[in-house]
Amino acid sequence: MAAVGQRDTAPELVVRRMLHGLGYRYRLHRRDLPGSPDLVFPVRQKVIFVHGCFWHGHTCPKGALPKTRLDYWKPKIEKNKRRDVKVLAQLRKNGWRAATVWECELADALKLKRRLVRFLDRYQSLQK
Ligand SMILES: [Zn+2]
Repeated sequence: MAAVGQRDTAPELVVRRMLHGLGYRYRLHRRDLPGSPDLVFPVRQKVIFVHGCFWHGHTCPKGALPKTRLDYWKPKIEKNKRRDVKVLAQLRKNGWRAATVWECELADALKLKRRLVRFLDRYQSLQK
């Protein structure tokens, strides 16, 4: 299970390899951007976050809160979720488009690939 803020997690490396293999070039963890996104596509003005389902409270089985120590986990996960929402709003405000990849999505690599290509290539004609 990858902790929040941890770099170069296994799911992140899978996404990086996937996009690199498709010919996309990106920068990593730009600290000058809100949330220090995992992958940054400066010319496209797009970013991708790769989130662990548990730590970011995804609405999938992996994202379910544990049955024990709920009083410990719940505020922690809620805080992360609030931060994610805030970061996405800040990025949008600054003209960036963001996509979130959930760890569980890696199970269907083809579907994920299609989604990311759609995300990265969309609106390209409108870019300067
Ligand atoms: Zn999930």
